Formats: sequence, structure tokens, C-alpha cells
Amino acid sequence: MKHFLEIVGNPLYYGIFLTLLGPFTVALIYRRLQGNARSKREDPDGRMSAKDDLLRENQRFARRFDLQRLPARPARRLAVVTCMDARLPVERLLGLTPGEAHIIRNAGGIVTEDAIRSLLVSHYLLGTEEFLIINHSDCRMMTFKDEELSARLQCQTGKQIAITFHAFSDLEDNVRRQVQKLKAHPWIPRTVRVRGFVYDVSTGLLQEVTTPCK
Ligand SMILES: [Zn+2]
Repeated sequence: MKHFLEIVGNPLYYGIFLTLLGPFTVALIYRRLQGNARSKREDPDGRMSAKDDLLRENQRFARRFDLQRLPARPARRLAVVTCMDARLPVERLLGLTPGEAHIIRNAGGIVTEDAIRSLLVSHYLLGTEEFLIINHSDCRMMTFKDEELSARLQCQTGKQIAITFHAFSDLEDNVRRQVQKLKAHPWIPRTVRVRGFVYDVSTGLLQEVTTPCK
């Protein structure tokens, strides 16, 4: 204790301590400034690049990685087709954890030929038995018509390409059509359950879309 008090009370030790700490602090500040400069570096096209931040997050993720034992077959035997909209935290809104479901996303949450390709692999090779279609309120796919966007891109690029964007104006009707496409597909067995939902981006709630009785 006496020895400790002698060290604490002696200005010489403070000097040694600060001399050692100085370069370390400078190095730390330099590294932090470099990191900031790197994350704010601009792409050649003038936009800010998020690449460094994303890679840094991945390194953090890999340090805590504990998913190596997950089986490839989704534990809940579930596949979801939904919109790519950034406001849809699909796993969170359904309470899913990694390894529980296939999530297939595209603009609108449309059952395209490619979505069907994924669903067939999902069912036949990886054992899913239930498909969900989730569209959402305020979807940008309701703000234009296919012909308008095609005409605009043709004007902008001077090139004509036949492409279907699958824009729609009625949300619930769009969900019903996607569900119907799956139910009517000759390679999707009737034992596979298909359900459609609308997600409200202002409340976080899912509402099931049912088929009206005829
Ligand atoms: Zn959308």
C-alpha cells in the first residue's frame, strides 16, 4: 500500500505514464479518422459508398457466428414470397429465426416464373409444405403502369425491351391472383398450403386476404 502511494504521489511516474500513453492515443485518433474518411469515400459515380461499413459489420457478425449447424431444410417448412420493399422486416414480422423459412423477394411480391422456380426447389428438394404471399400497403408497384415505365425507359435509353414489370392497382386483388397462380400450377401439389396476406407498413399488422365465395 505504501509502495502504491509512493507511485501515485510521485510526479515522475505521471510523466512516464503520459509519455507512454501519448503515442497510443495519437494512433487511436488517427485510426478513427482514417476509418471515418474511408466510410465516407465516394464511388466513381459520385455516390457515398457503404461498402466499408457493410464489410466491417460482416466481420463483427463472423466473430459472433453461431449458425454453422443450421440444416438447409427450413425448420418451419415454410416459404414466403414478398416484396423487396425495405420497410418489410420479413423475418421479424413473422417471428422467424434463421433456418426456419425460405424468403423469396422481388418488386411487388409477385409469383413470377423465377419465384415459381424457387418455390419448386423449396418444396421438392428442401421440404417446404406451406407458401405465403405477402404484399403490403403503400407499395410502389401501385404507382405506375407497365406501359408507362416501359415507355419512359425506352425514351431514356433509346432501347426497346419487352419486359413485364407486374405493376398493379388493387392490392388485395393482386394477392389473390398470386395465390391463384400457385394453386393452379400443375407442379405444385394440393397438399401444399397457400395463403395470401397484406402487411400494413403503418401498423406492422398482417391481414389475411381470403377468396370471396362465388
Ligand atoms: Zn412493395
